[in-house]
Amino acid sequence: MILLDGKKISSEIKEEIAAAVSEIKQSGGKVPHLAAMIVGSDGASETYVAHKVKACEQVGFKSTLVRMEADIEEALLLAKIDEINENDDIDGLIVQLPLPSHISEEKVIDRISYRKDVDGFHPVNVGRLFIDQPSYISATPNGIVELIKRYKIETSGKNCVVLGRSNIVGKPMAVLMARKGYPGDATVTLCHSRTMNIEAVCRNADILIVAMGKTEFVTADMVKEGAVVIDVGITRVKSDKTKSGWKLLGDVKFDEVAPKCSYITPVPGGVGPMTIVSLLNNTLKAAKNELYK
Ligand code: NAP
Repeated sequence: MILLDGKKISSEIKEEIAAAVSEIKQSGGKVPHLAAMIVGSDGASETYVAHKVKACEQVGFKSTLVRMEADIEEALLLAKIDEINENDDIDGLIVQLPLPSHISEEKVIDRISYRKDVDGFHPVNVGRLFIDQPSYISATPNGIVELIKRYKIETSGKNCVVLGRSNIVGKPMAVLMARKGYPGDATVTLCHSRTMNIEAVCRNADILIVAMGKTEFVTADMVKEGAVVIDVGITRVKSDKTKSGWKLLGDVKFDEVAPKCSYITPVPGGVGPMTIVSLLNNTLKAAKNELYK
């Protein structure tokens, strides 16, 4: 069994990005600049945004944190997005989700310029992904693809089962694995809460990608011998064994599943760190105008 070490790979990628930023600086080019918007002060969102801003600093990007009160009017939030869209110094804009219930996530995502949508959530980027055109790809599935590439995992002709059909993880993941080329060319099954005989479907998977948010859902009896298992789930649960009183659990029962796998991601330290470097990579592309001239 080989552990897919997202922490190690992500720090290698960060070094590559930092080197690219140094070159840009030396040649007098534009330093990538990410703006991150947070609405309200939800604890988990604060942590995620802080990690993203810190990662920007580590690789030499400029970053701007835009804070909005939880009760901000939707129209004012949209106007702020317009302002950032028009600001030529800012290359990428992300709005941390979830948003307070009086604000439409759909309207907010639609309002971000698709040219600055480094989260890859805008319908233009999602649509382009579906028809194999260059686009900003959602960070988590893109990070998984990168992990598969770096470990040279074979995907062609494999049965890939994706558990979870969210717009930001499951659906784009399924599309990426079904695309022509590498990584891709897999035969993909996309499962959700209405899937019948999900255990049997999982047992047929050469590559099992789990993004449900259901702690330890996947057990050893659901996994084929030699399968590749990628666990996207992160749920914070109380623990009396850690100093903080909390621990993170994935969607896979790691201890019993790992011995059956050829490759498996740990939680934490697997998919999570890869998500942040994907966002950095998208921001670098945006600064270089690589996708949209
Ligand atoms: P989500 O929007 O809540 O979607 C969950 C999906 O799982 C839904 O499609 C749902 O089916 C399906 N599902 C739930 N219970 C099921 C069951 N018993 N059987 C079959 N399918 C079931 O989740 P998400 O945003 O994709 O996130 C999933 C997990 O990944 C969460 O733990 C989240 O924290 C984590 N995550 C991690 C990262 C990272 O960087 N590591 C990034 C994003 C998300 P229906 O559609 O039928 O309801």
